[in-house]
Amino acid sequence: MDAAPASGGVPGGDATPAPDGLTSGAAPPSGSDVAPSSGGAPGVDAALARAWVAAVAASVTAHAAELTDLDAAIGDGDHGVNLRRGFDAVVAALAAFEADTAGAVLTKTGTTLVSKVGGASGPLYGSLFRALGKTLSDDSSVTAFGAGLRAGLDAIVRLGKAEPGDKTMVDALTPAVAAFEAATSSGLVAAATAAATAAADGAAATTPLQARKGRASYLGERSVGHQDPGATSTALIFAALADVT
Ligand code: ADP
Ligand code: MG
Repeated sequence: MDAAPASGGVPGGDATPAPDGLTSGAAPPSGSDVAPSSGGAPGVDAALARAWVAAVAASVTAHAAELTDLDAAIGDGDHGVNLRRGFDAVVAALAAFEADTAGAVLTKTGTTLVSKVGGASGPLYGSLFRALGKTLSDDSSVTAFGAGLRAGLDAIVRLGKAEPGDKTMVDALTPAVAAFEAATSSGLVAAATAAATAAADGAAATTPLQARKGRASYLGERSVGHQDPGATSTALIFAALADVT
């Protein structure tokens, strides 16, 4: 890893939740960000974005013990607690938030995660949702959503500097985003389903890897043989998307 803040809080995993990278974590909306609407096919509106986030919150609660056990094996055992706290806060924040676009809902989700979740996963997932929301702006098409997921992946990589194969959430997110993009022309349900399958496969494929980023990297070879908790929660996030579409 080269450039600065990532090695401090986020991947290195000292106690500080959020380095400077955090506040500027969201992708600046890139010039060619919003893709044209894909021919009137149903996209992701504000109600669906809310349903997705609520489904993620429920899934994180249902799987909190499993995520914590995975993190206890190769980290510090707080991943389930971190995410449950974060998504509970998101649900509360959205209940009091009037927004009529998916972009606004998802940007609020990301901002809340950044402010409420300690540990690496807060800034990382916060950056994902903020970049997704900002890319969507008021275009809710499937194509725009795919572009938003790509921006979210880019934001996580910019902040955490992980590459595929480093045994992190990036190992589930990278194939999920690619699968979503590849299936965009088949519509939202097909794209979300393909992404969910790819994320689950990507998470499972972290088991034999040796961690090179985050706390698990401190274990060296002893990180081999355990599925990465963050890749596992990424798979839950995409499974929730497939469930609500
Ligand atoms: P912490 O490691 O600070 O306790 P969590 O337990 O909430 O934070 O999250 C751990 C997960 O974060 C890991 O399983 C991994 O998937 C992800 N992670 C850690 N560092 C990085 C990084 N630099 N890039 C991408 N993901 C990372
Ligand atoms: Mg942890």
